[in-house]
Amino acid sequence: MLTESRYSRQVLLPEIGPQGQKKLAKARAVVIGCGALGTHTLSLLVRAGVGNVTVVDRDVVELTNLQRQTLFQEDDVGKPKAEAAQERLQKVNSEVAVKGIVAEVDAANVERLVGGATVVVDATDNMETRYIVNDACVRLAIPWVYGGAVGVSGMVMVVTRDGPCLRCVFPSPPRPGDLPTCNTVGIVNTLPSAVSSMQVTEAFKLIMGKEHTRELMVLDVWSQDIQKIKVVKDPKCAACGRGGRGGSPKAPR
Ligand SMILES: [Zn+2]
Repeated sequence: MLTESRYSRQVLLPEIGPQGQKKLAKARAVVIGCGALGTHTLSLLVRAGVGNVTVVDRDVVELTNLQRQTLFQEDDVGKPKAEAAQERLQKVNSEVAVKGIVAEVDAANVERLVGGATVVVDATDNMETRYIVNDACVRLAIPWVYGGAVGVSGMVMVVTRDGPCLRCVFPSPPRPGDLPTCNTVGIVNTLPSAVSSMQVTEAFKLIMGKEHTRELMVLDVWSQDIQKIKVVKDPKCAACGRGGRGGSPKAPR
């Protein structure tokens, strides 16, 4: 049910308006990961009235998470993140359906988890899962929004079935341990809100059928440096190109 007063400030925007709000209400968003990016993303999606929001995460809340994972509080420590997030978000907006799934996304369950989504938002902390999400979303023709945040800088990119996709930009996954992570180099707690705000804005556009940003956005919150890097599709890409199934009509499943 649409409550006009709750969403009035975004319905006022020409970018959203009443029609956009209806599309948000009908949409289903799946957020992969419930860490720093995930908690910000979930809060924004739920507050904006995206009608159906699912979060998938395998971890429990730890004390070190509270510095940046804004949905959690001290008495959540030890609880599964997906469950704590669901409980909190349902109190934020009882008009939307929020579901927390405690699971690790893998190649075997990914299509079941993201199937039927209007949009998928990446809030994972590792590249292996992102490639699994990339390949499944391209196969199922579900748009997804890549987001990464480590140290003081982050990246955002929209991927649709037509590409370019994550594999076009980074052809093969780095080996586990090769890339810096928040656990090894740290993270400033202002970064995740900046990155997830960009991601969720792109998710809104995708839900509403509006033109999305085509470049890879690279952001440094310390220096305030923002770059938009042109990305191109690899025609031979294993996911979205001739090397994959994304280039051929999607088989119903
Ligand atoms: Zn590709």
